[in-house]
Amino acid sequence: MKINPEYSTKEKALELYHTPLMELMYKAATIHREYHNPLEVQMSSLISIKTGGCSEDCGYCPQSAKYNTELDVHAMMPVKQVIGLAKNAKENGSSRVCMGAAWRNVRDNRDFDKVVEMVQEINGMGMEVCATLGMMNEDQAQRLKNAGLYAYNHNLDSSAEFYKDIISTREYEERIETIGNARKVGLSVCSGGILGMGEKVEDRVGMLMTYVHMEQPPESIPINALVAVEGTPLEDQEEVPVWDIVRMIATSRIMFPQSIIRLSAGRTQMSQEGQALCFMAGASSIFAGDKLLTTPNPEFNEDAQLFEILGLTPKAPFQDGEQPETLVDEKVEKAKKIRAEKEARVKAKKEETQSKGEFQPRKVTVQ
Ligand code: SF4
Repeated sequence: MKINPEYSTKEKALELYHTPLMELMYKAATIHREYHNPLEVQMSSLISIKTGGCSEDCGYCPQSAKYNTELDVHAMMPVKQVIGLAKNAKENGSSRVCMGAAWRNVRDNRDFDKVVEMVQEINGMGMEVCATLGMMNEDQAQRLKNAGLYAYNHNLDSSAEFYKDIISTREYEERIETIGNARKVGLSVCSGGILGMGEKVEDRVGMLMTYVHMEQPPESIPINALVAVEGTPLEDQEEVPVWDIVRMIATSRIMFPQSIIRLSAGRTQMSQEGQALCFMAGASSIFAGDKLLTTPNPEFNEDAQLFEILGLTPKAPFQDGEQPETLVDEKVEKAKKIRAEKEARVKAKKEETQSKGEFQPRKVTVQ
């Protein structure tokens, strides 16, 4: 994954960001055509496998336990339910599933075992699997990789300087460390930021410069527009102008020609024309499905209609890298065995009851 050497200094990158928009878009569209098929857009579906109750204080996030946001909090979803949602996403054209859990960091517990099992199952369905689970160490990254995880998402959100204005419960450096752990085990990295949190242009470009200075920049860079949720500290932030989103996408596309630039949160606030400009400027991926973790997103059918108008097609999985192999995970095998034994016991008990002709509650239909 290469960077564009022309923009490896902050000065040059800022100059690029401030290029007259039509010129910037033309430049981005030209580079986009050199490295990507401009008529293909990756559809990725985000599933919130554990929602809310997070101990962090990210100022934009309704999932933080510190804010009163009337969020529908739920514990870890059962594996079967997640698989069902992934199947539905696949049927609707998604080639990638990203599973998000509102955790500060991954813990080696049964919930993590379930995530590993979900990764195995979804990779087995021939979809790219991504996860966003907070901070993780190298062993945890390795376990996910062995399960068949394709990518790990860990956003830097903004520049190192602005980061402390929106989050106080962890350091920018810790984010970079987790990205490093994903890299060490060979995972593809998805990392990007949010516009509209009150940051300056220098912070937007500053975040991109952090990626420029990485040994290997992210394969995927999501650009989100803040969805200001009532109850969070950023609830009164004004909507970010679509022109800023287009500009940031074009700048990212030019600076990271090979990466996937993702048009992420905030699409419901954009018109079809605005989204079309983003694709023109080099966005090559969207999140599909009616929810983006906890905030609204266009429905699958709205995206299908937009794709038809623009002549776009969903990108097939594993175009940019091989499908990972799924290795046996002992903890998951043990959990599956226990579950199968329990199901068998329940079934046997039911059959025994029926054969004895014992009382069975009658089904009652309520009109
Ligand atoms: S962004 Fe992630 S880490 Fe921050 S509060 Fe939300 S769920 Fe927690």
